[in-house]
Amino acid sequence: MPVYSRNMLLHGAGFLPLVGHDSAFPCPEKTEYTRLPGFCDVHVHLREPGFSYKETIRTGSLAAARGGYTAVCAMPNLDPVPDSVEHLALEREIIARDAAVTVLPYGAVTVGEQGRELADLEGMAPYVAAFSDDGRGVQDPGLMREAMERAKALGKLIAAHCEDNSLLRGGYIHDGSYAAAHGHRGICSESEWRPIARDLELAAQTGCGYHVCHISTKESLSLIRQAKKDGLDVSCETAPHYLLLDENDLQEDGRFKMNPPLRSRADREALLEGICDGSIDCIATDHAPHSAEEKARGLAGSAFGIVGIETAFPLLYTGLVKTGVLSLEALVALLCDRPRKRFGIPLGEDDFSLWDLNAESVIDPEDFLSRGRATPFAGRRVFGRCVETVHGGKLVYQQRMKNTEN
Ligand SMILES: [Zn+2]
Repeated sequence: MPVYSRNMLLHGAGFLPLVGHDSAFPCPEKTEYTRLPGFCDVHVHLREPGFSYKETIRTGSLAAARGGYTAVCAMPNLDPVPDSVEHLALEREIIARDAAVTVLPYGAVTVGEQGRELADLEGMAPYVAAFSDDGRGVQDPGLMREAMERAKALGKLIAAHCEDNSLLRGGYIHDGSYAAAHGHRGICSESEWRPIARDLELAAQTGCGYHVCHISTKESLSLIRQAKKDGLDVSCETAPHYLLLDENDLQEDGRFKMNPPLRSRADREALLEGICDGSIDCIATDHAPHSAEEKARGLAGSAFGIVGIETAFPLLYTGLVKTGVLSLEALVALLCDRPRKRFGIPLGEDDFSLWDLNAESVIDPEDFLSRGRATPFAGRRVFGRCVETVHGGKLVYQQRMKNTEN
């Protein structure tokens, strides 16, 4: 990875205008910076239009820039749901006006994400990264088959949130030892892997490119691994929290609640194997901001979802690269090359971030540019600080620097 000096940062950049920055930090003369290609997160929730009290295109894309991301794909659980050209146009207008990095919307698979009739896939196709009903699974196999046939004809992927509603039974954390010990209602692993098994059959029959969102269980991984061996056009993502945490880390706090939930240690170990052997194609954050009130109601009552786009790289670099699980190059492939290739999102020449990989800090949600603050990683010590991000030749994030020589 190329290395840069402080001099370049302070005098040589010449990019305008500066749009995002945060608190000052000391910048010693001999610090070296590592240049990484702009990451691509294929799974974020930017909450606008409809829920701008949680996040906006502006705040979410600035948070992305701070995380070293120059492209993100925004999920369609919005109001209105982007299920028609007209509804999608509202989101696209805000993106054109406010986005600091490339924001590609997902089009919904079904009208209103209600799972009853298919959305206008043909009309939306030119403008969307792919199709997804993220936040809920498409329960009706007939509808999913038709969606796959139409997506295939359009050359678009279906990105599936896999969850069988009939198996949920009011669960909100993993149906494992912690739930049993603390009297919580569990979400079983089968609610994730059973719909994956169904969809893999449909993908085999239709030939549709199929991407599985946020896999969390070892069974899901085995199914996808086998499907790849069978030659299916299938890919999947997992998220940093499923690689770095499991149910043993749970606390009675809403910042540990997301869907799918933190699973068992065996699941986490299987997912780590999956990223090392290439069965898992990419790491996405499922950045899902909520208001403080929505996350203040403990495990049972809080909304599902945590923020993650500002912390993903430092957490993964610290937890996986510095510990020798992955090389830096392999991590960058999971965060940049592979998701870009799968979703057809090219990396521009002037799309990169500069990192001080030796800088150590403690994750403090008060520093976030995102409106969301709920993260299970608050207080965790990490290495790696993004000092600037450039997108399309324009500086979109820069950490303010304090001159330490005086
Ligand atoms: Zn999501």
